[in-house]
Amino acid sequence: MTPHAVTTLFISDLHLEASKPEIGEQFLSFLEGEATQADALYILGDLFDSWVGDDDPNPHYSVMKGAIRNLVDAGVPVFFMHGNRDFMIGEQFAEETGVTLLDDPVCIELYGEKVLLSHGDALCIDDAQYQQVRLMTRNPEWQAMMRAKTLEERIAFAENARKQSQAYNDSVGEDIMDVNQDAVVGTFRKRGVDILLHGHTHRPAIHDVDLKGRMAKRIVLGDWFEQGSVVRWDKHGPRLEVMPR
Ligand code: MN
Repeated sequence: MTPHAVTTLFISDLHLEASKPEIGEQFLSFLEGEATQADALYILGDLFDSWVGDDDPNPHYSVMKGAIRNLVDAGVPVFFMHGNRDFMIGEQFAEETGVTLLDDPVCIELYGEKVLLSHGDALCIDDAQYQQVRLMTRNPEWQAMMRAKTLEERIAFAENARKQSQAYNDSVGEDIMDVNQDAVVGTFRKRGVDILLHGHTHRPAIHDVDLKGRMAKRIVLGDWFEQGSVVRWDKHGPRLEVMPR
């Protein structure tokens, strides 16, 4: 008998912010509950709704960081991949929380299977305007320029960017904000994997992808706006599940 079922957990798109405390409460219960029994926890981006820098003293975020630290200290490795909202998370955050920062995408091996992990926004190439913003904000020079600003300037910038992004998202079609099928197929081929796990689109599902000769699976995590979303992965494979609030 093993002491507990060996499970690896995946979450994304919590979009934590102080004005939505119920999401934070659920995250804390998750970290203090089933996550303590996990093999590892992977957070695949947009844990926070915005991130202006690791020096932000936001007390809501401090509570969340402390809870992640407790989980790491309890012996559960936590991995973090940047999303398009919290791409400014850096080394100081990693040191404070004990998380390991991951590249996007990254290939891991899970109970004998190769799995490609990604936030997912890089697959949404139909949205050319967004991809331009992505390119700019992931540029180290742009990030250095941003870090050189005062905390107040960065908070004002983030607030403005959030408004613009909301107005933009309201103006473009739903489809444009989903993944592009050619980008998905291309990613499977390039990386030589059969399973891709990502978030970002807030469209939780498990899709079969026909690669002409073999079948692949694309697993999409959901957001935490109304309920939690998790992939629980053990030796029997992945389960995409809702966590009611
Ligand atoms: Mn996202």
